[in-house]
Amino acid sequence: MTTMEHDALAQAQALDAADPLATFRDRFAWPRGRDGRRKVYLCGNSLGLQPLAAGERVNEVLRDWATMGVEGHFRAERPWVPYHEAAAPLLAELIGCAEDEVVAMNTLTINLNLLMLSFYRPTDARWKILIEADAFPSDRYAVQSQLDWHGRDVESGIVEWTRGDGGYAVDALPALLDANPEIALILLPGVQYLTGDVLDMPAITTLARERQIPIGLDLAHAIGNVPMRVSDWGVDFAVFCTYKYLNAGPGAVAGAYVARQHHTSDLPRLHGWWGNDASTRFEMRDDFDPAPGVDAWQQSNPPVLGLAPVVVGLELFHEAGIERLRDKSIALTGYLEQRLAARCGDRVRVVTPAAPEQRGCQLSLAVNGSTQSGRSVFEHLDAHDVVCDWREPNVIRVAPAPLYNSFEDCWHFVERLHEALEAS
Ligand SMILES: *Cc1c(COP(=O)(O)O)cnc(C)c1O
Repeated sequence: MTTMEHDALAQAQALDAADPLATFRDRFAWPRGRDGRRKVYLCGNSLGLQPLAAGERVNEVLRDWATMGVEGHFRAERPWVPYHEAAAPLLAELIGCAEDEVVAMNTLTINLNLLMLSFYRPTDARWKILIEADAFPSDRYAVQSQLDWHGRDVESGIVEWTRGDGGYAVDALPALLDANPEIALILLPGVQYLTGDVLDMPAITTLARERQIPIGLDLAHAIGNVPMRVSDWGVDFAVFCTYKYLNAGPGAVAGAYVARQHHTSDLPRLHGWWGNDASTRFEMRDDFDPAPGVDAWQQSNPPVLGLAPVVVGLELFHEAGIERLRDKSIALTGYLEQRLAARCGDRVRVVTPAAPEQRGCQLSLAVNGSTQSGRSVFEHLDAHDVVCDWREPNVIRVAPAPLYNSFEDCWHFVERLHEALEAS
């Protein structure tokens, strides 16, 4: 290591020492390398680390089940019947809506399909769905199946918005919408999973509303990453998972948002008993009595064991505060970008936009050269206790999560990457 790298490490350590959120790092379980030290974990965009409090919260449910059996529904320390209600106010803070507009339920793709059954109402004049060209496969499959479900042509039914060189330029959207007056629904991500772009959600929503096209957002990579105000923006519906930035564990219960004006409208909806009003649910009536708000979209009684870590993860976000996390995130990702430029020069290109308002935690790196050399760089990182991920053909995604990552983590990542580039 030269003096310059020493200075950069000292700078990272000074930034960590001044970080008011630094202690959250010790409230997570860290995967460790062969030397017993914490791995450089920069993969919270894929699966967040386990909060130390998660195990005890799951055990509480197991204990109550063991000692009370069915009575735990009403008598558990945190009763199971209203268990999901603890998540709503905390989720509302993160996406910026009212408590009765968001619910923890099901998993992401199920929620996407469920809400499209309500919001995709094709007519002969308007029946196409706008997505982005690099949409996450699950979202694309869901959209394809909705078109097919309604007897529409799947291929011509999808209108794609393609990313430009500098990102998703909203300026390009009006022309695309005007050229495709058949669009009946817009479904876009808040943060693009591959490139890390933050889409201009308020501007896109305004364009959709001007044309009276319902708009849904997939917030899988946005929730817990960037602060949002979906309600004020006028977004019609949104879905998200909780195992990425929210640290709720593999396959954890996901969430859904439905704007208030749709709660009492005549949108079609699939019903189950958990969507029935809690006060009459156990009267077992023949007629469905919808719960107020988005809760009416619920189907089944929720998996309480799976919800326990969701609530724990959300409590940590509430304690840290999404605005403070975002401030740290901008600094953390900025430091990472600056180190990359200093140490890896033009051997690595940052695909993610440079402007902080156009990105969240994640930087997507393209390794210049062949796919093979990109792949071997990634394998070197993996062998040296760096956890990030690889997407074909040549993108390495790194996401310093401000809740538990440090500036020093970013420093280590860049040093390992530098070695990998030297070795490849
Ligand atoms: C992570 C992710 C998914 C995953 O879907 P699941 O239903 O949770 O398996 C879907 N869409 C996007 C955009 C994602 O980022």
